[in-house]
Amino acid sequence: MGEHVHLTAEQIHERAQQRLPEVSRATVYNTLNELVAMGELLEVDVTDGPKRYDPNIADRHDHLVCESCHAIRDVPRSAPEPSVPRGARAGFLVTGVEITYRGLCPTCARRHGQNGQNGQK
Ligand SMILES: [Zn+2]
Ligand SMILES: [Zn+2]
Repeated sequence: MGEHVHLTAEQIHERAQQRLPEVSRATVYNTLNELVAMGELLEVDVTDGPKRYDPNIADRHDHLVCESCHAIRDVPRSAPEPSVPRGARAGFLVTGVEITYRGLCPTCARRHGQNGQNGQK
């Protein structure tokens, strides 16, 4: 709770087991699905790997994703929010937008020897 984390269902199951050794994976998965359906949890699907679950529902935010280690960080939603021009919506009723900024986290950038190339801000 309140942590700045984006855990996979597997990781959440592991953590839950530390407190409730008998909790089953199915219980954890079902609970996660319920929380997502209730809007208490965000599903984040921004990497090649398994979906992550994000407890930060209070602040509208986007994600920075490391392409190398798949670390995810929250970034505040830029204002004004991007929107699709009316003429390009093809009749769609637009209800949301998600932005994923891809790149390398500091650790991976160092490993890849691409230090100091943070040109955009
Ligand atoms: Zn990384
Ligand atoms: Zn997030």
